[in-house]
Amino acid sequence: MINIVLFGPPGAGKGTQSAKLIDKYSLLHISTGDLFRKHLKEGTPLGKLAQEYMSKGNLVPDQVVIDMVKDKIKSSGEIEGVIFDGFPRTVKQAEALDAMLVGMDTGITTLVELMVTEDELKKRLAERAHKENRPDDAKPEVIENRIAVYKSETVPVAQYYEKLGKYSAVVGIGDIDQIFENLCREVDNHLLK
Ligand code: AMP
Repeated sequence: MINIVLFGPPGAGKGTQSAKLIDKYSLLHISTGDLFRKHLKEGTPLGKLAQEYMSKGNLVPDQVVIDMVKDKIKSSGEIEGVIFDGFPRTVKQAEALDAMLVGMDTGITTLVELMVTEDELKKRLAERAHKENRPDDAKPEVIENRIAVYKSETVPVAQYYEKLGKYSAVVGIGDIDQIFENLCREVDNHLLK
């Protein structure tokens, strides 16, 4: 299996690059943010719970996210691998993911970080709020909090995979196809290891 963690702050371009990776490598896409938004739209209890955290830019509790990812993988049948987008966002989630994958006789191929400056992120999030009607992108204080949470809770996930020799990074600003090409090179390098 090929299992890729696409990593980066909100607005780094994880969704855009995931879509291209899925096409190329025929993988299952798991975006925990998209799953929560789907639950919210359908008015499920999980959606309502998640909304309390999402609206403030806080993280949904680890166990809730981990159980949702487990369910998604279980219900997806035979798969060739997964692109994890927006997950894991804490070291606890990373540890749970690794244990889950060991149970399936597989593991993370690589975590690829999309590197984008903070000014560029804020610009992109403001544009996305307008285009996609995402309330969590609309308020400056919520954006600030999401970036602060990313730094304190999520950056350690990259360090966790770095210690395992699975970290890679590409510049996330510029031509989308060029970023994708660089991303694929990193994935292919790790597949050869
Ligand atoms: P995203 O679309 O990935 O930026 O996620 C939107 C929001 O969903 C986040 O700000 C969190 O409130 C919540 N969320 C998504 N993924 C996770 C995760 N792995 N852990 C905790 N909360 C998450």
